[in-house]
Amino acid sequence: MAFTKKNFSSFGAVNPLRRDFITLDIEGNLNKPFSQYKINSKTKNYIGMGAGQSYGPISISKPNGVTIKMHRSASSKITLDKNKSTVLVDSDVNIRTLNNYLIANGYCLSVMPGSDKATVGGCVAADVHGKNCHINGSFGDYVISIYIFDPTLGKSFLVEKGDNTFYWTIGGFGVTGLILCVRLKIIMLPGNSMVLNEIRCLSPESLIKSLVKESENSDDIGAWFCIDNTKFKSKIYIANWSHKNPKTSLKIPDIFSRFIFTFLGLYLWRRFMIKFLNCYIYLSKESQHPREINSVMFPLSTITGWNKIYGSSFVERQFLVPFNYGTETMKGIINIYRKYKAISLFCSIKIFRGKRIGFMSFANEGICLSIQYESHLKELDNELTIFLLKQGFPEYIAKIQQTSTSFPTGYKRYKTWFNIAKKNKVDSILMSWLKMNAKNR
Ligand SMILES: Cc1cc2nc3c(=O)[nH]c(=O)nc-3n(C[C@H](O)[C@H](O)[C@H](O)COP(=O)(O)OP(=O)(O)OC[C@H]3O[C@@H](n4cnc5c(N)ncnc54)[C@H](O)[C@@H]3O)c2cc1C
Repeated sequence: MAFTKKNFSSFGAVNPLRRDFITLDIEGNLNKPFSQYKINSKTKNYIGMGAGQSYGPISISKPNGVTIKMHRSASSKITLDKNKSTVLVDSDVNIRTLNNYLIANGYCLSVMPGSDKATVGGCVAADVHGKNCHINGSFGDYVISIYIFDPTLGKSFLVEKGDNTFYWTIGGFGVTGLILCVRLKIIMLPGNSMVLNEIRCLSPESLIKSLVKESENSDDIGAWFCIDNTKFKSKIYIANWSHKNPKTSLKIPDIFSRFIFTFLGLYLWRRFMIKFLNCYIYLSKESQHPREINSVMFPLSTITGWNKIYGSSFVERQFLVPFNYGTETMKGIINIYRKYKAISLFCSIKIFRGKRIGFMSFANEGICLSIQYESHLKELDNELTIFLLKQGFPEYIAKIQQTSTSFPTGYKRYKTWFNIAKKNKVDSILMSWLKMNAKNR
């Protein structure tokens, strides 16, 4: 098969990497022999890629491997079964397209990640969560069956609940092969819009206390906070389903984004903009009246180009903290940021409850903290790693960057995971790097 060269960057690293690439454009019927799409497994490792929306290079192949995107030319890429409340969808369909289709038919997904550009394949492989992980679990909980294509054999097979491969595919980051098609459980649309409320919190204590309390009675909830050398600032966004029609769209005009992000090459302008946005977003008045918004919240997807705010690349880290360590952990992180004069814009915090079903899925209960910083801050990175490792908090692989020195704790089955990847000739930049770090632990 002929590969082309293409540039790829993960969401956290804006600078592109050039890789061998192919789109496996598979025609029609899922049960057809696919031997013509076989790659030469003697020479190439491969990795499946969705929309490349992960913060780390988890879907970019190593320099000598190949990055593969799946595409199926079918008459319908989304097939709804109203009797069973399921949908059969191709892995390259993105969440926005699927959601719009479902809404038009009176249905929706139970779990939606913060990026609407993410594909169904990427959502299964990373077992993504939404803003309702305090009640609805994660994406994998709604997967019924998966068609997987093995490009080293040129064959596809179906996996269902009960098969080991099923649980290694959900949250397994592509180690079982290429996800071709997925059957998902869907729900009737609970309303026409969501009513959005905001709460401003000016200390880590009040943020965590309010978030835990409000999560008890909300359909969707998420909070964002920033770290700079001034007072702590954060906002909680609470959304509940409503039968009213949406009045407001959350989309920030691209012209505004373009203006802000045009001069981001300039260090001082960047820092000024982060500080300005921190005041604008987190100190602005809470709206006096709840707003009816489109049925789901994709706040970070609505601001085009915000990943350039930290310069050419940034580190995003997401980890799970037991409930009673939340405040202490946030304060520890803030102190480390201040020591290195780091500043951030969109750190986030969510409540996780329940257990994940995938063998390698991101941990279960606690407070999920996501933080970001410029990738040149290596000393801060090391100190944070030591701080996090000491506490033993698990880190989410999809959000890890190569510059960070830790291997995620809490993934008890990672050795088997590496072995499956090796057997299936699956490897990505990040996977190799994780393997190296795992050896050194
Ligand atoms: C603004 C923003 C907000 C986000 N918010 C959230 C959030 O709220 N919750 C959350 O959980 N995540 C969130 N994420 C992360 C993102 O949703 C996940 O990383 C998701 O997996 C990205 O999907 P993708 O299609 O871009 O997959 P990629 O990033 O391309 O790949 C992700 C993983 O899936 C594998 N993969 C993708 N497609 C296939 C396939 N067809 N077959 C086999 N393997 C495949 C890749 O190998 C890789 O391991 C956010 C990201 C951004 C940029």
